[in-house]
Amino acid sequence: MTSVDSHDSHGSAQPHIAAPDINPSFTKSVFLGEIREELVFPFPALSADESETLRAILDAFHAYAKERIDSAKFDHEGQFPPGVREGLHELGVMGLSIPEAYGGFGASAKVYNRVFGEIGATDPALCVYFGAHQSIGCKGIMLFGSEEQKQKYLPRCATGEVVAGFCLTEPGSGSDAQAMKTHAVLSDDGTHYLLSGTKIWISNAGYADVFTVFAKVTVDAGGKAKDRVTAFIVDAHAAGVTLGKREEKMGIKASDTRAVFFDKVHVPVEDRLGAVGQGFHIALEVLNSGRLGLATASAFGARRIMREALAYAKQREQFGRSIGSFEMIQRKLATNAVECYAADSAALVAAGMVDRGGIDYSLETAVCKVFASELAFRASNDALQIAGGIGYSKEFPYEQAVRDSRINLIFEGTNEIMRALIALSGLQQPGERAKALGAAFKDPLRSIGAIGNYLAGRARRQIKKPEFKNVHPALEREADLVATAVHDLALGVEDALIRHGKGIIEMQFLQERMANAAIDIFVATAVLSRTTWEIERAGGVEAATAQVDCARVFVPMAYRRARRNIRGLRRNQDARVQAIAVASLESGELGPKAPQDE
Ligand SMILES: Cc1cc2nc3c(=O)[nH]c(=O)nc-3n(C[C@H](O)[C@H](O)[C@H](O)COP(=O)(O)OP(=O)(O)OC[C@H]3O[C@@H](n4cnc5c(N)ncnc54)[C@H](O)[C@@H]3O)c2cc1C
Repeated sequence: MTSVDSHDSHGSAQPHIAAPDINPSFTKSVFLGEIREELVFPFPALSADESETLRAILDAFHAYAKERIDSAKFDHEGQFPPGVREGLHELGVMGLSIPEAYGGFGASAKVYNRVFGEIGATDPALCVYFGAHQSIGCKGIMLFGSEEQKQKYLPRCATGEVVAGFCLTEPGSGSDAQAMKTHAVLSDDGTHYLLSGTKIWISNAGYADVFTVFAKVTVDAGGKAKDRVTAFIVDAHAAGVTLGKREEKMGIKASDTRAVFFDKVHVPVEDRLGAVGQGFHIALEVLNSGRLGLATASAFGARRIMREALAYAKQREQFGRSIGSFEMIQRKLATNAVECYAADSAALVAAGMVDRGGIDYSLETAVCKVFASELAFRASNDALQIAGGIGYSKEFPYEQAVRDSRINLIFEGTNEIMRALIALSGLQQPGERAKALGAAFKDPLRSIGAIGNYLAGRARRQIKKPEFKNVHPALEREADLVATAVHDLALGVEDALIRHGKGIIEMQFLQERMANAAIDIFVATAVLSRTTWEIERAGGVEAATAQVDCARVFVPMAYRRARRNIRGLRRNQDARVQAIAVASLESGELGPKAPQDE
């Protein structure tokens, strides 16, 4: 057993990192009815240097992709032909986000995620290889590794000589990662741990040379034995590490996904990542930034498949005209165009937050992941529908796009977990206020001041709606809609907290609505920021008509969704909905039977 107090942490001082208690968060502030405009404006456009670097990387990637990437073939064969991964290594992108001091490119989050998007749009399976290595596999070493660990692993990760994987999920613990059973026991002489357990669904397992593995270490906490999640860097070729068979998956088929078994694997103490008990924090931090890559890959994937649908809609004729001339097809094209514009804007604003540092971006990356992953799945479906019968054929890319895009709603935190994270984190501060108020009402005579202040604050909030100050005047109406949504959300949250108290922690019907409203608010704000910048750089509204049109369609659409969700906090059918679900779960039948079957 290790003592919690004997933290001989070799984790170095942390670079950025999201520290929710100290650093400002745009989305958490929204739950309080505030718009932290300085976190979102000015729009974080790429610098000239970043643009030049990006162009060079994308050109090199395109040349490689033209020669080596055949996504349909990879999908059909369920693997990458020889040379494909090596070609990616030769481009130098395996170390794109690794600091230059460790042999990487040191790219900003804006550049890194754009490249991620391009790889994702070209071949989603290859993108999983790239992301599992860099966004999550060796990211923990980048963020939390000691100097020795960084020197030992990162230069080889940067070249692709060492491929990394991330081992968190287990048979009994997926979303509830803390319930993991994998265990690491410190040797009597304190030189190494023996790590045992089973991890499942591990991307890159078959290629990996090194894993970041999360395991519990039993510590002595005030005389009681407690298990603390701890991170380890584990040699994938060490004795005791074995792999399961390749999973046969619905999509991203060429990516290598397997179970990994650890049987008393000898892990030197020098390879513990961070302190004992810091593992869960490390996992969350890694996933917080990793999610942004998925968001960008989803948005660019959506664009790519819609581009196919566009070409088809133009060329395919029915009833004597192109199908693209029918309004039901046009609606699909335009909605996806507008939502891609919104997803790109949100991902860049979030990447800007990562690059600025000192900002808690955990909710914004979750927002981007949910918004873009659901967009990509919808867009693939719409593209398939536009293609009609051929959309269903394996000879065309549409059905693969539907299958490939589906995973993004599941991994790196399911979208349900992301919504719960957004709502529960957002509720924290208003919840504390409401709790203080609850306590004050118990002893009202002594707490007149507190109640008075609170009510005054509340009244102020009720009459004073937040305002945007940096939005271009041409978007005044749209800015007002977003400000109204922020105001209404804060009032709705406060009302729900007063009515339900801490019971809200279990009320996911409400949490889902709050999260959906917060998602639309952040994305719409990013659209305002981007479009303001677009108007300024184009030299006027006329010159930025395409972008302004996107904003004028997206923001009211997002506002209407947010308004519906906020109204639903009070007026809803939740009790009935729950009764139907519970009855179905009990009977095993989905609601009332069909009349013919009674
Ligand atoms: C192709 C692929 C690659 C993967 N790669 C990796 C990897 O490299 N490393 C790694 O560690 N893991 C990886 N995973 C695992 C992935 O992260 C998990 O599948 C995911 O976190 C969900 O866990 P689960 O499958 O156990 O589902 P569960 O947690 O059992 O969830 C099942 C359903 O219940 C919902 N649910 C669960 N809890 C709640 C709740 N509290 N409230 C509301 N709904 C809830 C979920 O949203 C989901 O819809 C991969 C998975 C796949 C399919």
